[in-house]
Amino acid sequence: MMLNLLTEGLVIAGACVLIASLVPVGHIIAQLPSGPVRRRWYALTGFITLFIVGYISYAVFFWNHSGNWHDLIVPGVFFFGAGFVWLTATLSLQTATDVRRVTILEHESINDPVIGIYNRRYLDLRLEKECTRATRYMLPLSVLLVDIDHFKRINDTYGHQVGDLVLSYLGKLLLQAIRDSDIAARYGGDEMLIISPNTTIYFAGSFAERLRQHVETHELVLTNNPNTPREIRITVSIGVASLSQETTNCQRLIHNADEALYRAKQEGRNRIVIHGINVHKATPPDG
Ligand code: GH3
Ligand code: MG
Repeated sequence: MMLNLLTEGLVIAGACVLIASLVPVGHIIAQLPSGPVRRRWYALTGFITLFIVGYISYAVFFWNHSGNWHDLIVPGVFFFGAGFVWLTATLSLQTATDVRRVTILEHESINDPVIGIYNRRYLDLRLEKECTRATRYMLPLSVLLVDIDHFKRINDTYGHQVGDLVLSYLGKLLLQAIRDSDIAARYGGDEMLIISPNTTIYFAGSFAERLRQHVETHELVLTNNPNTPREIRITVSIGVASLSQETTNCQRLIHNADEALYRAKQEGRNRIVIHGINVHKATPPDG
């Protein structure tokens, strides 16, 4: 009698542990995007369900059948097998949650929360890396320093919150315009820097002009009041600089881009200036 209770108890307890394993498995499935990995977790759910049916069938068919202590072996293996499944499922859930948290932290540590492009910390690291790579392998490298024209006016006219929306809007425009190999990051305030690896000063110049036009021809529509949507247009000035025989380090490169940007502002804004090249693309000065 005692032996019967023990063998049945092990099988029923195993079935309960398997049922409990379905909870972490469900949480994992809920976190996964649809795709092959999710489908495999569904398949695993199917297997666990089959095992539950098998355990219960065993308990029903072998009710009162145990007479010897070695009859405990099969129910024991069932029970510890269920424990193994439960442990694997809970550990997988814990690992998936940890990986997710690390990914979010990593994303937050290198991205600017207002603009949605890389932050200054990441920019400094990446710029150093790209400069070292370009000088070592003698590859061209250009940077574009982009600054919103009269951004203070936007803050003063519409408020800081709308100013933030404009910054994030510019971030989106930059991401639309750059190539996969380019890196766009916030340099500070309303200044963004684009690092263009493998790009000569001439290609960088025409890219900067296309970018300037891209910003000029788009508008941000504010929809906080659907009846009277407001459109905001911005323009940007861009300073372009490249590594060269005279410019072999990052600090100098940024300094040159900054100087070119300063000239673009001095000469009327909404224009690009290429460092070291006197012919620069200009547009009529803004009012
Ligand atoms: P300029 O054409 O010479 O560039 O004129 P500007 O008005 O854009 O002048 P400047 O670039 O010096 O001004 C930057 C302004 O950006 C000043 C600051 O109040 C504002 N700013 C900096 N960071 C943020 C931010 O995170 N959010 C908002 N809304 N404004 C910011
Ligand atoms: Mg500005």
